Amino acid sequence: MRNKPIFRRGEFPRSVEDLLERLPLKQNGECLECHRGIDSRGYPEIKIKKKRWRISRLILFLRGEDIEGLQAIHSCDNPSCVNPDHIRSGTGKENMADCVARDRINKGEFRPQAKLTKRDIKHIFRLHHLGMKQIPIAEVMGVSQAHISRILRRQSWGWLEW
Ligand SMILES: [Zn+2]
Repeated sequence: MRNKPIFRRGEFPRSVEDLLERLPLKQNGECLECHRGIDSRGYPEIKIKKKRWRISRLILFLRGEDIEGLQAIHSCDNPSCVNPDHIRSGTGKENMADCVARDRINKGEFRPQAKLTKRDIKHIFRLHHLGMKQIPIAEVMGVSQAHISRILRRQSWGWLEW
């Protein structure tokens, strides 16, 4: 069964509050998660006036921010989160730097040639998607560039669902 549209034809949210009131949300710690309309990268999307919006990006737009060429950055690193306090706009470079910094905080500066976890693999694809080259990704993750290349070509970990 298909979900009923949250916004009727021609309707547009009047404000961030209006948007959030209509979304099915789940509190998770400080995060407000939306598990409806999740795209292939884990971000909830909504269709309004025939246009698909990432909700995080829509929030920036509704706040009146100029989002041309910018990305929505989650301070909580939780793609399904739509808490406006956790979302700010920034360049792709800033997003990438943030992503790397968070990973460092999570793992500590020193990483021996460790086995990669499922979470690491997702992180690698995320960095790749943000435009980071294989060599810096390899450095961040503490593995060889060849390994990163195999992962991105899905020769390693190809069984994982994204
Ligand atoms: Zn959050």
